[in-house]
Amino acid sequence: MTQTDNPLRKYFRQAVIHLRLPSGGKFYPPGTLDLPPNGEIPILSMTAVDEITSRTPDALFNGSAVVNVLASCVPNIKDAWNIPATDFNSLLAAVRIASYGHEMEINSACPKCGEVHQYSIDLRGALDQIRMPDYDTPCVIGDLNCFFTPMTYKQMNDVSRVQYEDQKLMQVMNSSEVSEEEKMQTLGDAFKRITYLTIHSIAQSIGAIKTSSSMVTDTAQIEEFLVNAPKDVFNRIKDHAIALRAETDLKPVSITCDSCQHEYKQEFTLDMSNFFETAS
Ligand SMILES: [Zn+2]
Repeated sequence: MTQTDNPLRKYFRQAVIHLRLPSGGKFYPPGTLDLPPNGEIPILSMTAVDEITSRTPDALFNGSAVVNVLASCVPNIKDAWNIPATDFNSLLAAVRIASYGHEMEINSACPKCGEVHQYSIDLRGALDQIRMPDYDTPCVIGDLNCFFTPMTYKQMNDVSRVQYEDQKLMQVMNSSEVSEEEKMQTLGDAFKRITYLTIHSIAQSIGAIKTSSSMVTDTAQIEEFLVNAPKDVFNRIKDHAIALRAETDLKPVSITCDSCQHEYKQEFTLDMSNFFETAS
């Protein structure tokens, strides 16, 4: 595809900004990240083709939209499925800044007067607030030392797909003419699936468990331990995993209501559903 002798090459898109990854490049499997010596990776803007191919419902649903956009705009990352959760929001914010500028419009309803207004938020501020959670300190329970590791984009995407399917199932259940018995059965199955998914994703968030005599890194063994652990031990591990994951979320933004001047915090996330700016 690439023609090295193309005289138009110098008119191709260039790196718009450079990003320092919160992880500093840690947690990437060998060969999946080309980290420059200064630690800053170039971020290109999206092309027209990126926009078109990433907006298909299929690509949005199966996660390939994110992977395609990141592969195109962050050439130093060789396999976007392996991006750790710690860097995910930073990369999306950086690509959005490179493609559309640092302002992003969001709609927000005032919790006091209920009025909905459009507000402009500054993604540079959101980017600055992303910190690397402490993955070095283990969660210590008795003689167990649990060392955590961020989930990959692939793992996060698998979880959200199952959650989405379950939500859709619930909607169908609520609206359709099914017997109470059938509803209970379906609900029970869904809860089982969610419980399994929770345990599975916590197991994926643990890199190693050290005991006084051994070091366990096998995810299947860790998962088996979580299934059979006493409730309080399981809950402590779960809370630790959730707290680490929450630190990589974008922080809520401060908003002053245009109607009543009430000040409040608005949560916001960056994903493919609000990523693209509508053509004007
Ligand atoms: Zn208000």
